[in-house]
Amino acid sequence: MELNSMYLDELCDFFEKNGEKSFRGTQLFTFFHDKKRIDVENSNLSAKALSIIEKEEINNTEIYKIYDSKLDDTKKFLFKLKDKNLIEGVLMRYKYGYAQCISTQVGCRMGCDFCASTKSGLIRNLTAAEMLREIYEIENKLNIKVSNFILMGSGEPLDNFDEVIRFIKILHDEKGHNTSYRNITISTCGVADKIYELSDLNIPINLAVSLHQTNDFERSSLMPINKRYNLKELKDSLEYYVNKTNNRITFEYTLIKNQNDNDKNVEEIYDFAKSIKCNINLIPLNPIDEFDEKRPSKFEIIEFKTKLEKKGFNVTIRRELGKDISASCGQLRRKVEVK
Ligand code: SAH
Repeated sequence: MELNSMYLDELCDFFEKNGEKSFRGTQLFTFFHDKKRIDVENSNLSAKALSIIEKEEINNTEIYKIYDSKLDDTKKFLFKLKDKNLIEGVLMRYKYGYAQCISTQVGCRMGCDFCASTKSGLIRNLTAAEMLREIYEIENKLNIKVSNFILMGSGEPLDNFDEVIRFIKILHDEKGHNTSYRNITISTCGVADKIYELSDLNIPINLAVSLHQTNDFERSSLMPINKRYNLKELKDSLEYYVNKTNNRITFEYTLIKNQNDNDKNVEEIYDFAKSIKCNINLIPLNPIDEFDEKRPSKFEIIEFKTKLEKKGFNVTIRRELGKDISASCGQLRRKVEVK
């Protein structure tokens, strides 16, 4: 395993097992996750400690390119991984500070019709260190601290469960980035089995669930995951989650004109979600080449929102950020370095 994917106690054990003092583990952990550096030869590790880690891998994911939106304060980053795959991440500026959208896989195998990230399938999972370095590289480069993280870049976080949990726990470690769990949001297309596992971990992060359609027939044709876990199974897992954690779920609902924006959808959302402690976040569809549909008009979107509010839901509309640099939801793609 890459040294910068290891928990603090794993690093301490590692040094101890190799005949070094365990505090070298703490030194290295803070060098990686507080100083956010990987040039270990310049750390305060002893020569002996350095020789112990000489042959070990350290992940060196780095920024490859930065795109600045001219419409708002959004930046899109391309990161270069050690195998030359390029993944995308997005930095957004809000009144309260910065929020970063993190990719969790190279590509995605979920196959949602409307999403660019899945169009060339899954290449591989990202390691915890790769996800952490998406953050540290940006913070080091811009000299900022990012406070909120949303796992909504390319990939299905719950399809890379172990590394994503590792990433979140290291990000939360007070000797590292020290991020509150409340400031971390996982978004899933609905991998019900993993929602049970997540519930049992009882970590107070936020869970967002991509709903997008309200009956099994329509949802299965839009989102293949629905053939694996249908709406009933998804609902059961979410009720379990809320019961177990007492957290509130956010339902994401991408609005597609004449597809999922009618009164029947409002009724079916109500039927699905009335028993679940939740908010609803409407996402007007963002264009991608491979999906030939449109978003409803502004007026229709507000009308849909009002109808849901009348049903008693708390509803927000997601702002579209970084439109000119293809940084909006569903527009992130895998790339490969071309020289
Ligand atoms: N794999 C995760 C994260 C996806 S990105 C998931 O499925 O939840 C975050 C949100 O953007 C999801 O709700 C996703 O369905 C939505 N999305 C994907 N493509 C989109 C598009 N073209 N327009 C609007 N929202 C989109």
